[in-house]
Amino acid sequence: MYWDKEIETMSRDQLEELQLKRLKETLKQASKAPFYKSLGLEDYEVRTLDDIEKLPFTTKEDLRESYPYGMVSVDRKDLVRLHSSSGTTGTPTVVFHTIKDIDAWSELVARCLYMVGVRKGDVFQNMIGYGLFTGGLGLHYGAERVGCLTIPSGPGNTKRQLKFLKDFDVNFVHVIPSYALYLADTAESMGIEPSRDLPHLRTALIGAEPHSEETRKKIENFFSIDAYNSYGLSEMNGPGVAFECPEKNGMHIWEDAYLVEIVNPHTLSHVKPGETGELVLTTLSREGMPIIRYRTKDLTSIIDSTCACGRTHRRITRISGRSDDMLIVKGVNIFPVQVEAVLLGTPGVRRNYQIVLESKGHNDHMIVKVELDPGMFVGDIRGLEKLKKSLTRDLRDELLITPEIELCEPGSLPVSEGKAVRVIDKREE
Ligand code: ADP
Ligand code: ZN
Repeated sequence: MYWDKEIETMSRDQLEELQLKRLKETLKQASKAPFYKSLGLEDYEVRTLDDIEKLPFTTKEDLRESYPYGMVSVDRKDLVRLHSSSGTTGTPTVVFHTIKDIDAWSELVARCLYMVGVRKGDVFQNMIGYGLFTGGLGLHYGAERVGCLTIPSGPGNTKRQLKFLKDFDVNFVHVIPSYALYLADTAESMGIEPSRDLPHLRTALIGAEPHSEETRKKIENFFSIDAYNSYGLSEMNGPGVAFECPEKNGMHIWEDAYLVEIVNPHTLSHVKPGETGELVLTTLSREGMPIIRYRTKDLTSIIDSTCACGRTHRRITRISGRSDDMLIVKGVNIFPVQVEAVLLGTPGVRRNYQIVLESKGHNDHMIVKVELDPGMFVGDIRGLEKLKKSLTRDLRDELLITPEIELCEPGSLPVSEGKAVRVIDKREE
């Protein structure tokens, strides 16, 4: 049941002792990097885990400014891998790994996979971008470590993906949730019936972008599988940072490898237990490029109670979005996943949608474009009017502003092979 029972079920006291030891080592190691040297990191004294609050934060900007090698703590000859963030927001940042780092990362990913029932001999199709993006190679190494036959299919070429799933009796996949929904649409239009045609498929690991519980359910129901939320970011390796266990109630964050803090994004002080704030992470076992107090911009909260699965590492709640994903429309704060949750909970609505923001006079105007099931456009159009009204009402209840709804033919909205682009903001500055 556990990949690494000793670590995964360690008592909190032991775990914190290990964290403190590793934090001290990390500070020593990080102090070798030009960036941290310039911050005078070696002069900070850390005696307890609470002392983390005295240390400086690291931001994406810092990583950009230290480009290319300013964050590296080892001799360049000891680096074996470079990855880069997908650049969802601005210039990409680079992260380096030593052979030891790659090994530790693969172990973390293997731990996640084993947790959700992946075993040696399983067939794994990794439908996520290889290359600079960490989702491809990160999962690949972890799956090989467990002993899976790993198909590096990457994203796109949807019909071939479906063919491989069937021909190789694939057991589990790794897929971006928005692409999983597109895959479902494509399968449906090809007449593929997953419970009949893909009987070996059991599990999907979904991550890399915010998604709602409704999206998970759509994926699970369509493919008759279990879908588990996977969280990671390239600055902290990539996948394998936090992962759902079979309880599907929050993601265990591997605290032997990461020190977790949740801060108020404005005051930067710790929030009260259970409150939502920005996730701040410190690497605890990285050699090539340790990072101290990295501000992820991702909003979440900690679930402190014990988990029925027996793991002692704390859980974080589903990421509601990045603080910079938040839209301010007519003065109201909105996350795209709130729109998604309403749309996907509505019968007749397909899985693809887009939010367009415009200025109308001095006001913000929000248009929600959504694809409908093919059958919806046949026959009486009064049904469509009714659907439009009910969507407007449900979105207003959720968002507190009234959007305009545009009902679209299936397949008419753009599809991204990587992370979905849900928001088009055409408002004037
Ligand atoms: P970029 O920052 O350019 O998108 P990454 O590929 O490193 O590059 O993406 C990491 C980010 O993706 C995270 O900081 C988070 O915002 C998002 N993300 C990753 N996994 C999840 C998940 N399971 N749920 C929500 N958001 C996620
Ligand atoms: Zn658990």
